[in-house]
Amino acid sequence: MTTLDDCRKLDAQDPLRTLRDHFEIAPGIIYLDGNSLGAMPKGAVDRAVEVVSRQWGDGLITSWNTAGWFDLPQRLGDQIAALIGAGTGEVVVTDTTSVNLYKVMSAALRISAADHPDRRLVVSERSNFPTDLYIAENLCKELGFKLQLVESEQELAQSINCDLAVLMLTHVNYRTGAMYDMAAVTASAQASGALVVWDLAHSAGAVAVHLKAANADFAIGCTYKYLNGGPGSPAFVWVNPRHVDRFWQPLSGWWGHAAPFEFAPGYEPAKGVARYLCGTQPIVSMSLLECGLQIYQASAAFGGMPALRAKSLALTDLFIDLVHQRCAKHNMRVVTPVDHARRGSQVSLEGGDETDRNFSYAVIQALIARGVIGDFRAGDGKRLHDIMRFGFTPLYLGYEDVWNAVEHLRDVLDSGEWKQPQFRQKNAVT
Ligand SMILES: *Cc1c(COP(=O)(O)O)cnc(C)c1O
Repeated sequence: MTTLDDCRKLDAQDPLRTLRDHFEIAPGIIYLDGNSLGAMPKGAVDRAVEVVSRQWGDGLITSWNTAGWFDLPQRLGDQIAALIGAGTGEVVVTDTTSVNLYKVMSAALRISAADHPDRRLVVSERSNFPTDLYIAENLCKELGFKLQLVESEQELAQSINCDLAVLMLTHVNYRTGAMYDMAAVTASAQASGALVVWDLAHSAGAVAVHLKAANADFAIGCTYKYLNGGPGSPAFVWVNPRHVDRFWQPLSGWWGHAAPFEFAPGYEPAKGVARYLCGTQPIVSMSLLECGLQIYQASAAFGGMPALRAKSLALTDLFIDLVHQRCAKHNMRVVTPVDHARRGSQVSLEGGDETDRNFSYAVIQALIARGVIGDFRAGDGKRLHDIMRFGFTPLYLGYEDVWNAVEHLRDVLDSGEWKQPQFRQKNAVT
C-alpha cells in the first residue's frame, strides 16, 4: 500500500520539482487539465506587457523587423521541432490545429491522387477528436474520397490495404489516453502505399515523439495544451521534407508566398514549410507561446523530454494504483492502457454509479469545487461511455498532488457529495 509519506519522499527526490516554480498556480489548486489548457507560465505576464506596451505601443510597425515578429512562426517552430523529433526549419507555428489539418490533409490527398489515382479511401478512428473527423469528412467530399471510420485496432489493420490513400490518426486519443506505436503504424500504412497524417494534440510536450525516426509524412498539433502557450495559442505544422515542395496547401495566402513583400499578383509558394503559412499571424498570442516553450528548454538541465516522460508515467502509475487501492468499492474503471508503451499522459476513468446518468459529470464538478480540476467528456450513449479525464503535466505536478487528488475523489465518492444538485448544472464548456 502506498502512503502519503511515500509520495512526499518521491517529491523530495524528484529533480524536476523546481520546474513548478515557473508556473502561476494558486495554492490549493491541483491542476489536472493541462491536457486541455496548460497552466500559465509566470513569464507570460511580463511578456504580454512587453509585447503590447513596448513592441506594439512604442515600436508600432517597426516591431515587425526590430522585435522579430516576422520570423516568429519559424523561430517557435524550431523550438517545437526539438520536442517532436523534427529537424530545424521543418516546423512552423500558425493558425489552428483544425486549419492546419485541412492544409496537410489537402496536400496528402493531392499527393496520393497524383501517385496512386486509383486509391480513394481515407481512414480514421470513430473515437478521434471530432474536428479532425469533420475536416476529413468535408475534404473527402470535395476531392472525391471515401472516409472510413474504424472502431478497433483489428478494423484498422484490415483497412490498411491497396485502396488506402491516407491514414489520419491522433497519436494519443483525447478520450482514453491510448497511444499508438507511431513507427509501427506508419511503417505498415506506408508498406501498403499510403500516406500517414498524425495529430499530436495530446502528444507534443507530453510524450516523446520522433517524427523523423518514425518516417511520418505529415503532423500537426496544439500548443495551448501541454505546451502551455495560452488560450487559443496558434498550432504547429510539420511536413516531411520529401513532400514539402511537391504541392502547396490550398490556403495560398501571402505569408506562404515566396516573396510576400513583392506584392506580385500571382501566387508562387515559398520553399519548404513556410508555404504552410497563410495570412498575418496573431503576434500577441504567439509571443506568449515562447514562455511555455522556454520552460521545456529549462527542463533540459534535468534530462528534458525523456525525464519528463518518465515522471509522467510515474505520476499516472501512482494515480492508477491509488484509485485501485483507495476507491475500490466504487467500481471505477481505468480505461487508459496500463502498458507504458500505449499510455499518453492522462488517465481516464469511467463507471461508478451505473444508475445515475450524471455520475461522471457530477463527480468532476464536485472535484472542481474542491480545487481538483479535471474534466468530463460525454459518451455517445452507445459504444463510448462518459469519462472523467485527468491530465498529468510533469512540469508542475508532484506525487503529493496525486495523493491529494485521489483523496478528494475518494471523499467525493464515499460521502455521496457528487449527488448535490449544484454539481449537475451543465456549463457550455465541460
Ligand atoms: C484539442 C484538439 C484539437 C483542437 O483543434 P483546434 O483547432 O485548436 O480547436 C484538434 N484535434 C485534437 C486531436 C485535439 O485533441
